[in-house]
Amino acid sequence: MRLVFIGPPGAGKGTQAEYLIKKYHPAHLSTGDMLRAARDAGTEVGLKANEYMSKGELVPDQVIVDIIKERLAQPDCAEGFLLDGFPRTIAQAEALDIMLKEAGTPLDVVLELRVPEEELFTRLASRGRADDQPEAIRTRLVGYRNQTSPLLDYYTKQGLLQTIDGLGAIEDIWSRIETVLDKIA
Ligand code: ADP
Repeated sequence: MRLVFIGPPGAGKGTQAEYLIKKYHPAHLSTGDMLRAARDAGTEVGLKANEYMSKGELVPDQVIVDIIKERLAQPDCAEGFLLDGFPRTIAQAEALDIMLKEAGTPLDVVLELRVPEEELFTRLASRGRADDQPEAIRTRLVGYRNQTSPLLDYYTKQGLLQTIDGLGAIEDIWSRIETVLDKIA
């Protein structure tokens, strides 16, 4: 199964991604995790990326596209993958379409985990990650609205979008996701 998981910061994507991987076993490509690992390892890309991450801004498209391209070429992705945190802009989505087209491996589904903005700020402010400072949170939420939410239209037009209500108990949200994915798997 090849899927993209879209949702604003604080939507609970990480938790649901864990369940999803346990059940369907796609390779998990979390760009946030990859960038944090690169930063912690002190690589050139990681340090450059951190200048953006710490402010809640997106790293430049080309940086992240190159990382994903390299990662998608690895053998574990041949069995399927979950893209988590990518694409986040229309330019990234277009780059992904080209990559997948060349490889002959189109997406099966794009899941949107939908949570109202008021709820997100409350959740994020209580989480306490390094980039969960109020100013960076605001920047990330506005970035989602302006840069990422246009992808919902983009994937609707491709007939790939499935929206999941992200409010409620973790188990209930998971069963909504399972219902959608069991039809595809
Ligand atoms: P969030 O909780 O905001 O969803 P992530 O863990 O997915 O956080 O990403 C953390 C940070 O890493 C983002 O705020 C951004 O700076 C950077 N980042 C992650 N994925 C991308 C991407 N696809 N394009 C640009 N920047 C990204």
